[in-house]
This record gives sequence, C-alpha cells and structure tokens, in this order.
Amino acid sequence: MDSNIIKLLQLEKDRQNETINLIPSENFVSKNVLTTLGSVLTNKYAEGKSHQRYYFGNEVVDKIEDETKSLVYKVFEISDTEWGVNVQAYSGSIANLAAYLGVLELGDKVLAMSLEHGGHLTHGHGVSFTGKLFKFEHYGVGKDGLLDYENILEQAKKFNPKLIVAGATAYPRIIDFKKFKEIADAVGAKLMVDLSHIAGLVAGGVHLSPFPYADIVTTTTHKTLRGPRGAIIISKKELSENIDKAIFPGLQGGPQLHTIAAIGISLEEASRSSFKEYANQVVNNAKALSKELSNFGFSVVSGGTDNHLMLIDVTPLKLTGSEAGKKLEEVGIIVNKNMIPYDLRKPWDPSGIRIGTPSVTTRGMKEDDMKKIAELIHKTLQNKEDLGKIREEVKSLANNFVFNG
Ligand SMILES: *Cc1c(COP(=O)(O)O)cnc(C)c1O
Repeated sequence: MDSNIIKLLQLEKDRQNETINLIPSENFVSKNVLTTLGSVLTNKYAEGKSHQRYYFGNEVVDKIEDETKSLVYKVFEISDTEWGVNVQAYSGSIANLAAYLGVLELGDKVLAMSLEHGGHLTHGHGVSFTGKLFKFEHYGVGKDGLLDYENILEQAKKFNPKLIVAGATAYPRIIDFKKFKEIADAVGAKLMVDLSHIAGLVAGGVHLSPFPYADIVTTTTHKTLRGPRGAIIISKKELSENIDKAIFPGLQGGPQLHTIAAIGISLEEASRSSFKEYANQVVNNAKALSKELSNFGFSVVSGGTDNHLMLIDVTPLKLTGSEAGKKLEEVGIIVNKNMIPYDLRKPWDPSGIRIGTPSVTTRGMKEDDMKKIAELIHKTLQNKEDLGKIREEVKSLANNFVFNG
C-alpha cells in the first residue's frame, strides 16, 4: 500500500527495536493486545453500559465488556459485591476527572501530591481543568525525597479536604496506602488512589495493594500493567453509579470497544504466574540499575528505588534534564526529563531525568543487562566515549532483545 503513514509505522517499529526505552510510563504490549486493538471492534458504537445501550447489535460487545470487567475483579482480587468497575474511560486523565466529578461538588477541597514532587497534572495542577474545577492543595516529599505522612496528616487537618489523592507519576518508593487511609479517616475524607504507574506491580504482587484502604482506585492500563492505552476506575459500590454517569454521559460518548477488549487481553496475561515473575524482575532490574548508577557517582533521588523507576539529578554533571535527555537520545537511550523534589529549575528544563525498567524487562533484560545500561549512561553523560561509538553499542544490545510479543 502506498501510504506515507504505513511507511512511518515501519520506521517507528525500527526505532523501538533499535533503542533502549527507559521511559517508566511506557511498555511493549503483546501481539494479542496489538491484534485486538486493530480489530473490527473499532467499527462498533455502543454508548451506555453493557446491556443498557443506545445502539443495537451488542450481543458480542456486551460479553466482551462484561468479561473485561470480571478480569479486573480477578486480577486485583476484589469482590463484585463491594466494588464497581468502569472500563470505558479513554485515558487516565479522563478517569481521574470522572472520579472527581462523581464524588465531589465543583469547588470542593482535595489534597493531592504536587506535580513538582511527583504527582500528576490531573492531581489538581493549575493548568489542568482538575485544578480549575476543584480547590486543590498539595503535599510533597521531605528533603530526603520520601513522603512524610506526619506532615501530610497535619496539612490535612488544617485544610480539611473532602478527598485525598494518593499516587504518583514520579515517586520511586513504596506508597503506604494504609497510612493514607488513617489520614483520610482522621479528617473524614474519602481516599482515592491513582495507581497508574504501579498497577502492574500491584497485580504482580510486588507493591502493597490499595484495595483494603481506598474508596476509589483509578489506573491507566498501558504502563506497568502492559495493556493498551486506556484506563480503569474501581470504586466502592455506593460511589460507582455516579462515577459511571460522570464517564457517560458526563464526559464521553461511545466507549472504545477495541481498547476495552485489549484491556481484557492484558488482564488475562496479568493473571498468569509469568506476570508475577515479570513484575518481580521489573523491580529487581530497577534496583540493580539504580545501584550501578550510584556506583558511577550519579545522584539518585532518595538514594534508590523500591519500584520500577528512579529519578536522577543531573545538575552535578553540569547538565540540565533536557540536555541529558537529548544526549541520551543521540545514543539511542530514551528517557524523559523530570522535575526533582525542591527543583530550582522549571518543568520545561528541569534538573532531572526519570528512568524506569518496565520496557526493558518486557524485552527480557536482567540485572546483568542493567549493569551494561548503567555503563552506557555513564559513558554518555560523563563524556567517556565518542557518542557514535556508544550508539553502536546500544544498537547491538537492543538487537539482542527484540520483542516479538
Ligand atoms: C499517566 C498518568 C495519568 C494519565 O494518564 P493518560 O492516559 O496519559 O491520560 C494519570 N495519573 C498518573 C499518576 C499517571 O501516571
């Protein structure tokens, strides 16, 4: 087919194969997930909940949506008498907005983690509509880079929020959902956990589950969970009807059934024992990478990691996050620039880079390969070798781990 887009698809496939992807929010999905995303389900409209649709011809898609929802209960080991599940949100951002709109009145007070310290834009940042529609206040981490639950409790007592949001996009440590629940209870607030980054780690049993403590859990499906781009909202039964209404008709029209089916496929994969091994290896790889980078003298925020990601302060190398990211891109190592706690620089050109191991672990890399990657990062950022030569070494490492789904 003579299509420029199809030609570009092949180039993107080559790019993904020939680089080492350390962006912690990305992953490689299986062939079955890809096939399902590209399936005839994209032809179908099915506004409404399954079995209560505005269009006809739903006998198959209703079964698909029901099956995906039942897999959510299975993977997260929760009961359908206590929890409601919505798999229709187009993305994590919409899922979060729907959760807020489902349980809050406009202008209500919410306490969440600040973007600068690792939270997400949709946790009430001023440039996000979440921050314009509700009155957010933000907590951060201490100078040691760790959440200080005593401080958050004090802040909650003063602010008296109706909802507390736990969860982050750039926090390298275990989040203690039990402590967040105690804080929420102390001020009579509901607890929402945004599990986006670590849903796969929870599913794989290597991070504390939020379900014993939270009232609402939102998550993207495309990060450590290794599914298609989409989201899931899980909420206590008494909240779920309002949240469902916030999704449809509040914010969205027809659900993307090809995505919902692909979420189901990825949940089937996440329910297998091989996924537990995967999640475990993601964390072991991150620990190995952070240790090797520390050995090379890199400044790892909070001194290491308990999960899939780490933040590196690159300013001691006389580089900014942008400069470091650009240099790494030149050799084929792909990261993202990121604020570090108490950053003196601005989000567009912050002091840090954020790196993670979900993608390289999917490709089959282990601790020894992390050692190699740390060395490549060291040589690139500490000017130990010609960048063209490092690019060849990256390519050869990447070629040893081509992912075929
Ligand atoms: C990625 C992420 C989101 C947003 O997801 P999108 O699918 O990009 O809209 C929300 N919250 C957290 C914590 C995230 O990491």
